[in-house]
Amino acid sequence: MNLERRTEFILGVKQYAIDELGIPDNDSFLEMYPGGKVHAVYHALPNRLEPAIKKDPGCQIFDDEQEAREFARSMRKEGYHAMYTTFCSYSKNEKNGEAPLTTNLLKEDRVYQSYIIFHEMFHLHCTVNKIVSNRRLDLEEALADTFAYCSQREYFADDTVRFKQIKTRRDRVRELNDFYAKYIALLREKGADTEKILARANKEQHRHKIKHRLNMAFFLRESFYAPYYGRAMDLFDHSDPRDLVANTRECYRQMLEK
Ligand SMILES: [Zn+2]
Repeated sequence: MNLERRTEFILGVKQYAIDELGIPDNDSFLEMYPGGKVHAVYHALPNRLEPAIKKDPGCQIFDDEQEAREFARSMRKEGYHAMYTTFCSYSKNEKNGEAPLTTNLLKEDRVYQSYIIFHEMFHLHCTVNKIVSNRRLDLEEALADTFAYCSQREYFADDTVRFKQIKTRRDRVRELNDFYAKYIALLREKGADTEKILARANKEQHRHKIKHRLNMAFFLRESFYAPYYGRAMDLFDHSDPRDLVANTRECYRQMLEK
């Protein structure tokens, strides 16, 4: 598929979120991120589920790949855990929160592209409508993901093949989330032997077909998501995505209820 058709698809999904699902109109995915890729390095202390650098959420964003990789290397050299990755997009929690276009996103298949777009559109709704503070990023991430799933199901309702892929993908997310949540809880225990726990997690990862090594930086990232992912799935996976937009605060309240 050529670039033009890919861009057209991305903007079509975005417009669907605006016209049909109640997301505010915005300039997301119109501009390419500088350099085409968002590089990120997650970092953590070696023995605790905490960022290596204080006053930082445990993730540093870079426009330049070399710079990002160099930062990861220097963190490891100092004894911290680091994980280099790239983002398909991200909604900045500032201004209107518009998400940029990236070369990664353009390369993905339609199922993954639509997931990213709906997910980022939900963040944008939260930012523009001042739904939640940064401190409750865990709730926002969980609901953004569930919103993406519900929206995808609707968007691809007449596409049997993709509809099935979406369901399969959701089952995989749930399986991984349960796996991560288990180890995050162990790593958070007081006096936990983190090296031993990480070794166990890395032994078990093959069963879940995870190909990369799991370290503290990875689990720190997942710890932003894992606590409420399962809860959001249980509560809202069968929802109308419009309801999740219209009643976001009420959804958060329900997620926090025991
Ligand atoms: Zn997100």
